[in-house]
Amino acid sequence: MHHIECPRCGGHQTASAEALSSPEAIDCQICGEFLATRQALSERESPSLFVQSCLRSHALLRVMTPA
Ligand SMILES: [Zn+2]
Repeated sequence: MHHIECPRCGGHQTASAEALSSPEAIDCQICGEFLATRQALSERESPSLFVQSCLRSHALLRVMTPA
C-alpha cells in the first residue's frame, strides 16, 4: 500500500497494489485532483540513481585514498 497526500484538499489516499499495477493515473477520491502515476510512485520508492552513484563514488574514494 502506498500512502499519498492530496496537495489540493489534504485528503489522504491509499493506493492498493492493484491500483499501482495499472498504468493509469491515481486521482484524489475526494476532489479528483491528480495525485500521481504508478511510475512516479515506484520511482519514489526506489533509491534514486543519484544517491546510488554518490554512495558508489564515496566507496571508490575510500579505496583510492591512501591510509
Ligand atoms: Zn483531494
